[in-house]
Amino acid sequence: MAELEGLEFGKSDFVLLDEVTMEQFMENLKLRFEKGRIYTFIGEVVVSVNPYRQMDIYGKDTIDAYRGRELYENPPHLYAVSDAAYKAMKRRAKDTCIVISGESGAGKTEASKYIMQYIAAITNPGQRAEVESVKNVLLKSNCVLEAFGNAKTNRNDNSSRFGKYMDINFNFNGDPTGGHINNYLLEKVRGGGQIDRGAFTALLRGGSEEMLNSFHLENDPAAYVYTREGAESTTTNNDRSSHKAVMSALEVIGFSKEEISSIYHILASILLLGNMQFESDGESVQIVGLEAVNHISELTGTDPDSVTKSLLYRTVATGGGEVIEKGHSEEEACFGRDAFAKALYERLFGWIVGRINSVIEVKNYNPVLHGKNTVIGVLDIYGFEIFDNNSFEQFCINYCNEKLQQLFIELILQQEQGEYEREGITWQHIDYFNNQIIVDLVEQPHKGIISILDEACLTVGKVTDTVCLDSMDTKLAQHPHYTSRKLSPTDKTMDFQKHFRIRHYAGDVTYSVEGFLDKNKDLLFQDFKRLMYNSSNSVLKEMWPDGQLSITEVTKRPLTAATLFKNSIVALVDKLACKEPYYVRCIKPNEMKSPVLFDDARCQHQVAYLGLLENVMVRRAGFAYRQPYARFLQRYKMTCEYTWPNHLMSSDRDAVEAIVTQHGFQDDVAYGHTKLFVRTPRSLFTLEQERAAL
Ligand code: ATP
Ligand code: MG
Repeated sequence: MAELEGLEFGKSDFVLLDEVTMEQFMENLKLRFEKGRIYTFIGEVVVSVNPYRQMDIYGKDTIDAYRGRELYENPPHLYAVSDAAYKAMKRRAKDTCIVISGESGAGKTEASKYIMQYIAAITNPGQRAEVESVKNVLLKSNCVLEAFGNAKTNRNDNSSRFGKYMDINFNFNGDPTGGHINNYLLEKVRGGGQIDRGAFTALLRGGSEEMLNSFHLENDPAAYVYTREGAESTTTNNDRSSHKAVMSALEVIGFSKEEISSIYHILASILLLGNMQFESDGESVQIVGLEAVNHISELTGTDPDSVTKSLLYRTVATGGGEVIEKGHSEEEACFGRDAFAKALYERLFGWIVGRINSVIEVKNYNPVLHGKNTVIGVLDIYGFEIFDNNSFEQFCINYCNEKLQQLFIELILQQEQGEYEREGITWQHIDYFNNQIIVDLVEQPHKGIISILDEACLTVGKVTDTVCLDSMDTKLAQHPHYTSRKLSPTDKTMDFQKHFRIRHYAGDVTYSVEGFLDKNKDLLFQDFKRLMYNSSNSVLKEMWPDGQLSITEVTKRPLTAATLFKNSIVALVDKLACKEPYYVRCIKPNEMKSPVLFDDARCQHQVAYLGLLENVMVRRAGFAYRQPYARFLQRYKMTCEYTWPNHLMSSDRDAVEAIVTQHGFQDDVAYGHTKLFVRTPRSLFTLEQERAAL
């Protein structure tokens, strides 16, 4: 901790700042980053700054130093929160969760891996084989999910293109027995239809010649539209080993040979689809080069005529109940192709997650025999995003962050309040900005933006994005967190036709409504679904159960992308809300991936929108630390003559009071029924120092 480490490293808990101002906060954050101290506490929250270099702070020695210790007994670290979450789960049989947030490239996924490694390292001391195997599968699942879910972007070379929430189940011994993964996919096809996941590049660069030949693929990512953008010309050993690593991880998890083969057949067909082109003679549209059709039909276990047909025509039911085939325009054919490729990928990813879940699911757990089954959840999900151009994806992501911020406020305050009440401590409620109003702006039935979007998608006829914007302007004109050019005509930074702005808790974001309706409808022609359902490949068929419906049966409109996303986030929040939360807040120090650069403006912006200053204030208004009397006594009795080696007082509480008084911080504490509450960490540091000096 600051005092334990020496002041030259800055304050190891922001609660210790002389004044809670942005200047002081930033000064401390920067100093610590420059001194190689990437972690800092705000009470139990860990603030992390991405070091962009390997740090020697994750080894076995460090793990041993944190294992079973109280939060403030060691310098701030991910291991400190991991241990706190684990201890709460084990000692008090509480379900806990660790929420990791921050923007792209801030270090969330790396943090989640260190947390899992820590938990794996401190559990199953007896090395029981079945527990080891569960741990192994849990750790291996990361490798697979990263390969299939990550992509190189301009912000992060290994960017997670999905949000991940993983529950780890524990038995009464505190050993992992299984888990469950929820994924939050969110990426509509970008301009040019890129789907450049790591698994593709790894396959193209690392797959054997024989394998690639059988898939009709070249070993060059630049040859494929979907992988072209991020393709660099050289093959690295890393690509070869990562392809091997993924294959072997799939095997370890328990995917069968047929399943693994199906996965790669699907990947290959997506790449070939992406390169498919169409030409029009003015009358009808044709596929350029039929070879690709044959290859795709071979890879997907379908017949070539059906592939061609589903790419060039769609089946529609007329008002009179008649079923006709309607030819695509060239543009429609391209749209259909990309939507199909994207859907193939999404379903593949979802299926892989489902398969992993079926392996790690806790089986044969009998609470009567085995005691309570407890859970630690780890959430690694996209942070707040503000780009130059913000579209549907940013709208969803930022809504998700509003929900998580709501939860953060509710849980942190609720948890504090609950504890003070239980312990009979008086506490001053502090005011904070409640962002419920923004959550409502997005999700309220009938009046919220998602409802307005859905309504526009349901309207028959030509509803354009601009018409939808008009409807939002009319319905939301009075909302204090919504505006647009029509509502603020003098604001020239917005365009009348396409922009609206939301005042998020983290700042103003201007969204372009262009493409909102298409992305929300997320249309995939039924013909493709039927094609896949009729595949002779049983894995592929399993992924497309809705393909068995004929066009006349597909009457119910599928839920829109925004509504599906909203439902999944609401379910996630419900899951988190019943757990005791721990937080890791990640900050990206610069845009250059540099280990030495601390970009003040960029960092300050992140501190602001992560609400870290408010967090410090809330923390300072209450009590930073609390500890059961016996435990406190155990640790500090040697610092006071009345308690060493044993006290003669009538209760542990009185003995603790003697220690507190002797050190002169009686004004900094409150006495609960079972615990001592300490307002500032400074008092504990004094004790720690004294203990160390003895
Ligand atoms: P996204 O939202 O795009 O998925 P992220 O927050 O998950 O981003 P990471 O992939 O965890 O970001 O981190 C980006 C890169 O930063 C890593 O690939 C790694 O190079 C570096 N990095 C992050 N955390 C650490 C760390 N603790 N030690 C060393 N390097 C790190
Ligand atoms: Mg990530």
